[in-house]
Amino acid sequence: MSGDVLSMTLPELQETLTGAGLPAFRAKQVFQWLHQHGAADYAEMTNLPKALRETLAQRYPIIGCSIVRRQVSKQDGTVKFLFAMQGGDYAESVVMQYKYGATICVSSQIGCKMGCAFCASTLGGFRRCLTAGEMLSQLYTAERALGVQISHIVLMGMGEPLDNFDNVMRFLDLVNDENGRHLSMRNISLSTCGLVPQIRALQARRLQLTLSVSLHAPNNELRDRLMPVNRRYPIEELLAACRDYAAATSRRISFEYAMLAGVNDSDACALELAQRLQGILCHVNLIPVNEVAESPFHPSAPERVRRFSELLAREGINATVRRKLGGDIDASCGQLRRREQEHHSEGGEPI
Ligand code: SAH
Repeated sequence: MSGDVLSMTLPELQETLTGAGLPAFRAKQVFQWLHQHGAADYAEMTNLPKALRETLAQRYPIIGCSIVRRQVSKQDGTVKFLFAMQGGDYAESVVMQYKYGATICVSSQIGCKMGCAFCASTLGGFRRCLTAGEMLSQLYTAERALGVQISHIVLMGMGEPLDNFDNVMRFLDLVNDENGRHLSMRNISLSTCGLVPQIRALQARRLQLTLSVSLHAPNNELRDRLMPVNRRYPIEELLAACRDYAAATSRRISFEYAMLAGVNDSDACALELAQRLQGILCHVNLIPVNEVAESPFHPSAPERVRRFSELLAREGINATVRRKLGGDIDASCGQLRRREQEHHSEGGEPI
């Protein structure tokens, strides 16, 4: 972290700069440039003396990301960015337009270790965790490129956020800072595949964000097959943690359920799911699975999704069907990076 100015909190930046013999007010100026204006270069910080800007640039480089590719959905205006990180890695973000404002889906790692059978992020292999600054930079770079203020963040891009716990907590602190971007915790969702100890650690922080839990199956037999994490933290343990989380924070948990035709979309699955979720302050999001080239799964038919949703409702479980955005631009996590890797391995020209 030393020198990674974009990942520093304001007190850390003050300490760093005063330690280097600079007055503390400079730290606040730099912090505001970075986080309120999304400055990617010290050259933009025009209220700082030029010589100081040059010194800072040498000592404390701004480690963010740059746009490699941008795809815009013709269907709904969803924009998918492929970002280059330092070290030549790629990460993805998607910006979706909703009635309540623009939402960015941020990646927390390059690749993923969790191994979910239907997810493209796993296929490309795990490379590394992203820093807080690299996560912020996805937001700031997208806002600048699009000329919009993004009002909502979902940590649902590539990677498992709770497998990068400290950096993600730092990211949340920074994006929420009143001297920085000051984005409300209530406008942030964090999605996890179900790392139970980290869910409990998150609960202890009492954040006002929305916790999304990727469930995708109503029992261990099926969930073990789809999500290897379940072999470590079985569904009973996961749901117990969710029950406690919701009770302690009074925040409704959002369960994600990707509908896989003929795999987890039967009436019996719906009833078993409803049974399991009784008494948990929650909501179920049904998502027809996005097809991934190498994966054997196909989305459930709309009629099946509707029926599943009705069965849940009949059992008193609140469910909605997620509107699918960006279907024409590989907008599900890991897909664009995957395409990029294949392109390179086929000997294609880098962009
Ligand atoms: N690792 C975290 C967050 C990243 S994935 C998690 O597992 O929650 C964000 C969401 O997309 C998760 O619910 C994940 O299960 C889901 N997802 C992954 N691949 C998908 C696909 N092909 N179609 C639909 N949803 C998918």
